[in-house]
Amino acid sequence: MHYISTRGQAPVLTFGEAMMTGLARDGGLYVPETVPQFTADDIAALAGLPYEEIAFRVMRPFMGDLFSEAEFRSLIAKAYQGFGHPARAPLKQLAPNHFLLELFHGPTLAFKDFAMQIIGQMMQAALAKSGERITIVGATSGDTGSAAIEAFKGLANVDVFILFPHGRVSEVQRRQMTTPTEANVHALALDGDFDDCQARLKDMFNDHAFRDGVRLAGVNSINWARVLAQVVYYFSAATSLGAPHRKVSFTVPTGNFGDIFAGYIAQRMGLPIAELVIATNQNDILDRALKSGAYETNGVKPSISPSMDIQVSSNFERALFDAYGRDGAAVAQLMDEMKSGGFRISQGALESLRATFTSGRCSEEETLATIRAERAATGELLCPHSAVGVKVAQDHLGAVSMITLATAHPAKFPDAVEQATGLRPALPPRMADLFDRPERVTRVPNDLAALQTLVRERIAR
Ligand SMILES: *Cc1c(COP(=O)(O)O)cnc(C)c1O
Repeated sequence: MHYISTRGQAPVLTFGEAMMTGLARDGGLYVPETVPQFTADDIAALAGLPYEEIAFRVMRPFMGDLFSEAEFRSLIAKAYQGFGHPARAPLKQLAPNHFLLELFHGPTLAFKDFAMQIIGQMMQAALAKSGERITIVGATSGDTGSAAIEAFKGLANVDVFILFPHGRVSEVQRRQMTTPTEANVHALALDGDFDDCQARLKDMFNDHAFRDGVRLAGVNSINWARVLAQVVYYFSAATSLGAPHRKVSFTVPTGNFGDIFAGYIAQRMGLPIAELVIATNQNDILDRALKSGAYETNGVKPSISPSMDIQVSSNFERALFDAYGRDGAAVAQLMDEMKSGGFRISQGALESLRATFTSGRCSEEETLATIRAERAATGELLCPHSAVGVKVAQDHLGAVSMITLATAHPAKFPDAVEQATGLRPALPPRMADLFDRPERVTRVPNDLAALQTLVRERIAR
C-alpha cells in the first residue's frame, strides 16, 4: 500500500512513513494510492463483532507489512482497553429513525481518543523496532492536547510536549493535560493565545536543524493514521443497523473535516452510506462552499462548540483531490489561491462533492435549543458539538436511518450544557477525582528560543 500527496510533488511513502511524516513535503496531505474494497460479505461478517476485531479488519488492508497480525491485534487491544464502555462506540436511539453514535467513552471524553490511542501504540511499536526516539509537539485549544497526552504518556520511545494558551482552556481540559504523572509528559502553559501556540509550533517545525535534532513528529488531524482509525466506527455503527443489507446516513459535527472524511473513506471501501451530512456551527465555510461553490474564509467567530471553530478545514483538501480527479497540480493551485482568501470550486468538482456530501449549519441559539429539547424529549444530555450534529441531522431525516456522531461527553463542556438545561453534567465515575489530582505544568514565555532550550533539556534527561 502506497501513499501519495494531494499536491503530487512529494515522495511516495509506506503507511509507517506517512504516519511518522504527517504533512507531505510539498505541503500536501497523504492519501492511499488505492482504496481497499470490502465485498457485501466482508461487511456482513462484521456485524456483532467486538470493536477491536472490526478495527483489525478495517485498518489492516491499509497498513502493508508494518506489523504482524498478532502484533497489530495486541496494539489495538491496548489502545481501547481504557475506554469506559464495552462497545467502545455504542449507539443510542433518539427517534424512530435517528441514532446517536457515542464517541466519548475514551480517556479524555472526546472522539479524538479513538485515533490518538491507536497511533500512540503504533508509533511506539514501530520505534521500539528501530530503537529510535521521537519528540511529539502539539498545540491545542483543548481536546487534541489532552488526547495526545493520554495516548503517549508512559511510552518508552516518545516524549510529548503540548502547548496550550495559559488561562484560556477550560478547567477540565487543563486538568486532563496537567494531572498525568508520567515523566515523558510535558504540559506547557504558554503566555499567549492559541494562535501564538500554533505559530511557535510551526516555528519549531520550520527550524530544520532543531526538527531533525530532536526528531520532531506531529499528530495533528492531517495525519493519515488518524483518519484511518476513525473509519472503523462507521463500519461498526452501520453494521449494527443492518448494513450492508440496509443503507445508513451519517451526520458529522465538523471542524477540520477529518472525522467526516473517514466516513467518505468507509463509503469508498464499499460501506453503503446514503448521505454524509456535514454539520457546522456558525463557522460555516464548508456549508457555504457546498451550497455556493465558493470556498472563502470569513474569520473565526468563537462559539459554544469551540472544537469546531475553524477558519479553513485542513482535511477538505483530501476531498478536493478526489473531486478534481486526483489532479495534484490543480489542488496545489487551489491551495495557492487560498492564501488570498479563497477560490471557486469548479462545476465538475462541485457536482462530485455534492454526490457524496450534503451540509447544514447550526446557530448558537439553535445549539442551545437542541440541547434543551433533546433533554426534554429523550433525557439525553448532548455536548454542544453533538447538538450541532443532531440539529442538522433533524433537517435531513428521511427513509434511511440517520446516525449522528456525538463527538464529546457533555461533562467536557459543562457551561454550555448548564446554560441550556440548568443541569451541570457530572464527570463519569472513573474520572470523578480529576479535580483532586495534583497538577504539573510549566509556564513558558511566547518565545521560540526558550521553548527549544526547554525541549532539548527535557529530552536529554
Ligand atoms: C475535533 C472535534 C470536532 C471536529 O472534528 P474534525 O475531525 O476536525 O472535523 C468536533 N467535535 C469535537 C468535540 C472535537 O473535539
